[in-house]
Amino acid sequence: MFRVVVLGAAAGGGVPQWNCGCRVCLTARSDPELRRTQASIAVSADGDHWFLINASPDLRQQLIATPQLHPGHGKLRHSPISGVILTNGEIDAVAGLLSMREGSPFTIYAHEKVLAILKANSIFDVLSANNVRRQPIELDKAFEPALPDGAPSGIEILPFAVPGKSAWYLEGRAHPAGNDGAGDTLGLRIRDKESEKYFYFLAACAGVTDDLKSRLAGAPLVLFDGTVWRDDELIAAGLGSKTGQGMGHIAMSGDFGAIAALAGLDIGQKMFLHVNNSNPALLPASPERKLAEQAGWQIPADGTEITL
Ligand SMILES: [Zn+2]
Repeated sequence: MFRVVVLGAAAGGGVPQWNCGCRVCLTARSDPELRRTQASIAVSADGDHWFLINASPDLRQQLIATPQLHPGHGKLRHSPISGVILTNGEIDAVAGLLSMREGSPFTIYAHEKVLAILKANSIFDVLSANNVRRQPIELDKAFEPALPDGAPSGIEILPFAVPGKSAWYLEGRAHPAGNDGAGDTLGLRIRDKESEKYFYFLAACAGVTDDLKSRLAGAPLVLFDGTVWRDDELIAAGLGSKTGQGMGHIAMSGDFGAIAALAGLDIGQKMFLHVNNSNPALLPASPERKLAEQAGWQIPADGTEITL
């Protein structure tokens, strides 16, 4: 049976963020229900073998909290994780790989641009090539990640380019893969080959194009970038100098925001992922949350298993 578990729903820094005293972070320190770890999901076609979509800095905590991802009963060394699919090279998508360095075999699937970042940072060599294969994936070319014994997983993943930016730590620097071309930010369509159930994962997206709208129309589930409620939110709250757009993220609200852009597309379930702690929609009683919910959006709690 096709299974999808939200490991974390927050943007970089999580909720609460270590050095933040904003309204949401203050509330989250006393209210565990508000807390979120950094965005990642796990998917499985058989319930025994799982693939992570991104490896967040909170991965260790997420694995402890998720029984499906614990070592098999009676096995001395084992993990049900067969692979990790990376959608970008941001710290909140790749740093968790460093928590998977204890010798269990798995495969990293990523675009050449992201693989080039891993290759250029020797700290990732802690994942030895003997155990951890790095498999390039291509835009608009569906692939089926493999189980550790090479058998097909039953999951088909179609990566496609979405508007976005390369990792912020590369701003103003030469990209290790060169500065040209798409591949820094991927959306994924993830499909169970047996049941043909599918959903979309777009935890980073700077804008909704007509092409993206037609792709997402009629989808049973879309997990979408919910970083900020409004584009100038960090500036208005005195938390930073960057806009959502400046960080490669569309806002939830506004005429060109995600809620408006994805309205009327007959999407079954709409959930925001990668929600920043500055975003007032995280507060369950906020007017922003009410507006999002009225438009059919949810912000899942960590650990939520989504039924398709
Ligand atoms: Zn905060």
